[in-house]
Amino acid sequence: MATTDMATTVNKTAHPFDKTRLDATLNRRFFYAPAFEIYGGVAGLYDYGPPGSALQANIIDLWRKHFIIEEGMLELDTTIMTPSAVFETSGHVARFADWMVKDSKTGDVLRADHLVKNVLEARLAGDREARGLEAAPPSVDKKRKKKNAKAAAVKLDDGVVREYESILAQLDNYSGPEIGELCRKHDIRNPDTDNEVGEPQQFNLMFQSSIGPTGQHKGYLRPETAQGHFLNFNRLLEYNNGRVPFASAQIGRSFRNEISPRAGLLRVREFTMAEIEHYVDPEDKRHPRFKEVRDLSIVLLDRHIQESGSSETTTITVGEAVDKGIIANETLGYFVARIYLFLINIGINPKRLRFRQHMANEMAHYATDCWDAEIHNTTGWTECVGCADRAAYDLSVHSKKTGQPLVVRQALKEPIVTEKEVPEWNKKNLGKLFKKDSAVIQQVVESLDEAGLLKLKGELAQGSTIVKSEDGREFTLTPEVVTIERKTFKQSIRDFTPNVIEPSFGLGRILYTLLEHSFWSREQDVDRGVLSLPPLVAPTKVLIVPLSAREEFDPLVQEISAKLRRAGVFSRVDDSNTSIGKRYARNDELGTPFGLTIDFASVQNRTVTLRERDTTDQRIGSIDEVIATVTDLVFGNIDWAEACRRLPAYDGVQAVD
Ligand code: AMP
Repeated sequence: MATTDMATTVNKTAHPFDKTRLDATLNRRFFYAPAFEIYGGVAGLYDYGPPGSALQANIIDLWRKHFIIEEGMLELDTTIMTPSAVFETSGHVARFADWMVKDSKTGDVLRADHLVKNVLEARLAGDREARGLEAAPPSVDKKRKKKNAKAAAVKLDDGVVREYESILAQLDNYSGPEIGELCRKHDIRNPDTDNEVGEPQQFNLMFQSSIGPTGQHKGYLRPETAQGHFLNFNRLLEYNNGRVPFASAQIGRSFRNEISPRAGLLRVREFTMAEIEHYVDPEDKRHPRFKEVRDLSIVLLDRHIQESGSSETTTITVGEAVDKGIIANETLGYFVARIYLFLINIGINPKRLRFRQHMANEMAHYATDCWDAEIHNTTGWTECVGCADRAAYDLSVHSKKTGQPLVVRQALKEPIVTEKEVPEWNKKNLGKLFKKDSAVIQQVVESLDEAGLLKLKGELAQGSTIVKSEDGREFTLTPEVVTIERKTFKQSIRDFTPNVIEPSFGLGRILYTLLEHSFWSREQDVDRGVLSLPPLVAPTKVLIVPLSAREEFDPLVQEISAKLRRAGVFSRVDDSNTSIGKRYARNDELGTPFGLTIDFASVQNRTVTLRERDTTDQRIGSIDEVIATVTDLVFGNIDWAEACRRLPAYDGVQAVD
């Protein structure tokens, strides 16, 4: 029997989000797992299994379409192993470091800012508990909380609460010695042992290696892909016919020897990054497509608010944020907006997404302004994309070190005409009078600025002038030796070092927060977890479910699989010996958005049913109609409401739920 009613909306919040349940599902279904597990594993290294790899590949595919194809970016694939000279010049050898502290008795190493954050947050949670305001949030690690006496349900003075909140709001702005000071002042100890910690020390995050058999050539695994872009700048510029603005893009692995990686995929030692370097004229940071994103509303947390000890956000359009100078320029604003649109497109909840500006001391050594896309999850707000204005830093330092100009040569539409005072020498008289001192005299005069030259000109008009060399000797000059003339100069070429705006994505963080935002349990059964991944990123798009493994279904299974393959839709067949309902439930937790059921009616009438994951709503139609509809659904051409207009509801006997 068929009706045209659409299923009612689904309640996805019947059960509170449960991270333990999600983690167990991800591990059981092999989204990802600790690498080298049977050897005991290594902190911060993970392997992705089939659904995790497919999800990442789909996110990358969308990223390539959203950025590289949409914006005509120049894609690169540069090496990971990098000679040390590159990172010495870029500043990473000296400054790419985090502050660590050591437990005074056990020698355990902790990241200094994370220690302060964890301890103060636990104390504040204890305070809220003591005031009866709320139970400790699930993000507070219960085991550690118990060990840290100060974090028990203890009420704090109002002044202390305000002080802790203010420290947390600007934690990223503290230097290492200041963090040491905080630990002493607030008696912050290692929560695992209750021991005091020592003075913060810097720890460089790069993995060092050596290149070649002699071990003479030091190298590093790159901690970001960016340097590979900058070193190829001249080739890229030439490829782009010498014109800016343009952007290069690269997706690849980066390595950071994180001090204590404990947060699953959020802090790992090897991860995939997708980075864009957009090269722009420093004197014109407008963006030709800015008007397309001007009216987009985003949530911002600017540096002044944080520096005042608050975390209050503002909702504002990108246009207004740039007009008011909150975001420094149009190009930076354009990328903030494009990052927002990308994250929403893959399924990040817009209510749990904000852009936070770096405070002055927090900024990386190369950046002049930086906004992080932070995504909310059970550990709090996590930076998932950085968007920095690196100004001319990188190109300038590499150019200086190598002697290779890394500049744009631009023919000016209108030549720039300037007038200035210049010394005109009578070389014969100069040599005759001053012999070997001639060069010193010339250098003194030529280093004078415009005002100095004008003064000299006036004195020469009176007959003579005296100039002084660096070693204090005086020389009298007359118009027979030098005159100062006003000359016109015409400049038709302008050389400049472009500025670089860099959006930098960590794919693991995006993937994990997306999984958190997508996970829920069915109202009637908390054990039935569902991952509501958008069809575009879901690892498998369609599950084909024959009623049983009987041979009579094989031809249809093969026909449907082949037709979906031809349409570019990734499907899998589940003909295991269990009920259809169980098979669907198993695939709900893999995020598979659609299911096709093949039953006896299919064999007789060539009809199949189409099931939608979230609503469990089922529709029926001919094989070709259903394949056309599901293809449109998977590619985002239509939504489920439209699918329901095309296909009548199915409420036949073998309802699957
Ligand atoms: P950064 O260069 O530090 O701004 O990092 C750029 C992006 O890389 C961040 O926004 C993160 O998404 C990602 N990222 C940085 N460090 C890690 C890490 N240890 N584990 C996972 N992702 C990271």
